[in-house]
Amino acid sequence: MDLSVIIPIYNEEANIPTLYSRLRGVIDQMGVSCEYIFINDGSRDRSLALIHELATAHHDVRYIDFSRNFGHQIAVTAGLDLSTGQAVAIIDADLQDPPELIPELYRKMQDGYEVVYAKRRRREGESAMKLFTAKLFYRILASITNISIPVDTGDFRIISRKVVHALKQMPEQNKFLRGQISWIGYRQTYVEYDRAQRAGGETGYTYRKMIKLALDGITAFSDVPLKAATIMGFTVSGIAFLVLLYTLFERFITRDYQPGWASLMVSILFLGGVQLIAVGIIGEYLSRLSANVRHRPLYIISETNIPTTAERELR
Ligand code: UDP
Ligand code: MG
Repeated sequence: MDLSVIIPIYNEEANIPTLYSRLRGVIDQMGVSCEYIFINDGSRDRSLALIHELATAHHDVRYIDFSRNFGHQIAVTAGLDLSTGQAVAIIDADLQDPPELIPELYRKMQDGYEVVYAKRRRREGESAMKLFTAKLFYRILASITNISIPVDTGDFRIISRKVVHALKQMPEQNKFLRGQISWIGYRQTYVEYDRAQRAGGETGYTYRKMIKLALDGITAFSDVPLKAATIMGFTVSGIAFLVLLYTLFERFITRDYQPGWASLMVSILFLGGVQLIAVGIIGEYLSRLSANVRHRPLYIISETNIPTTAERELR
């Protein structure tokens, strides 16, 4: 198998037919053997039925149906786990990532790269809030991690079997694939494109899911927030100590003191805030630590037409 295309699906009934016909048109022209892997991530619309139809009609359409919604990163991971292509393309189902770019990504890979990611030049039809938060997040991430995670890229990219193999050796529960792929290394390059609007349907990425992804990215690749909590603690304690000396001086030496309700309130609130922030940061890391210690499977498959490795070996 030359190429696997991985398509995570969450309520995409409006986009699946167009997506498939555009993908097929582009890839048939490339003259490579290809498998299409749809991962139904607990959709509540007709997505699964549409995927079933495609799989019945075309022998190279594979699907994985999850028992519930596990999230985009886990859906892609399942696709990677069960893919067999020498090259693997990851693409969103909503046609925001143009399938027409895949041949270019693939060609670039043949020049000796293990990862070719698609970098967004422009993003259309997304709210100012989303653009701003995304930009802020990528800049913060770049400044506090020691690996270089490319700015303005999503998961739309093509990676080689070597990289898939390396990813499979990274067992973390809280996946942040674009960070992990940067961490893996090898020769990586990019192709630029203009990101279109979502073709149909609505985004499955709520702010809640975006915040989770952002925190997964930061906690998996940086200890800076933990260190910041420590530094903040020391700074505030230092200031508090000076204020203490000053208070004692006023009280016992100059004896010129006021009933200090305001200063008391301010310092209590401030100290309380700093302490809560620090505890919260520690909590973020701790919760991920405990998730990994539990060793749960990343996802539960309800149904698939992909043979397991054991079944493949029997043939
Ligand atoms: N997706 C998924 N599980 C989710 C949310 C999204 O598999 O819980 C899929 C979705 O079907 C799409 C891709 O991930 O193929 C990107 O999602 P979306 O377009 O909603 O994100 P956005 O482009 O708004 O960031
Ligand atoms: Mg989208």
